Amino acid sequence: KSLVVAIDGPSGSGKSSVSREVARRLRAAYLDTGAMYRAVTLHCVAQGIDLEDAAAVEAAARGIELFISTSPDRESVTVGGDDVTAAIREPEVSAAVSAVATTMGARAELIRRQRALIAGAGHRIVAEGRDITTVVAPDAEVRILLTATEEARLRRRGDQLGGTQTDAQLKRQVTDRDARDSTVVDFHQAADGVVTLDSSDLDFEQTVAAVLGIVRT
Ligand code: C5P
Repeated sequence: KSLVVAIDGPSGSGKSSVSREVARRLRAAYLDTGAMYRAVTLHCVAQGIDLEDAAAVEAAARGIELFISTSPDRESVTVGGDDVTAAIREPEVSAAVSAVATTMGARAELIRRQRALIAGAGHRIVAEGRDITTVVAPDAEVRILLTATEEARLRRRGDQLGGTQTDAQLKRQVTDRDARDSTVVDFHQAADGVVTLDSSDLDFEQTVAAVLGIVRT
């Protein structure tokens, strides 16, 4: 039976780690759609493609040989057979990724591939991103907007990066990226029928439990 859990939210909301753990507990697949935008971005940079050139970015998204593991226990992304799992997390990619995300032709292609991956997992999957509840899987059985205050999100991202970033750097990586992404997808306001879960005062375990609680209702 189909169980698609769609989770959207801004960066630093804890989406990825929470979604992965929820998938494990549900014995479902897991899809990190942000990793796909990151992979296209890395590919464009490596190929010397101008990120402002919408036609070229769209062509890159269509042509890319991209593989992403949908096992919650195996984080793996490859492009043209090369393992880019770690490289797509580099700050240079985070800084450039909004250029790909705001190229509508590239979005259309990635949305198409994401729907195929959800179907490929037999519609038993936790899929996470910015537009899953609204565009990729609006008919998902469970749709959640995972939010947190800006303060909490900056703190989490800072912890994730091992306390190596200044406040100004963190703000650029979290707040400015969200502002750019928001020009094409609204992940600050829950769409009709989407449950908002504010994780500001919840720890990881509590957030996982809250999501599972929503799944079970
Ligand atoms: O989730 P993560 O921070 O890894 O996402 C990286 C970027 O991918 C976001 O900043 C956004 O530009 C883009 N993205 C998107 N739509 C999604 C998931 C991610 O536009 N569904």
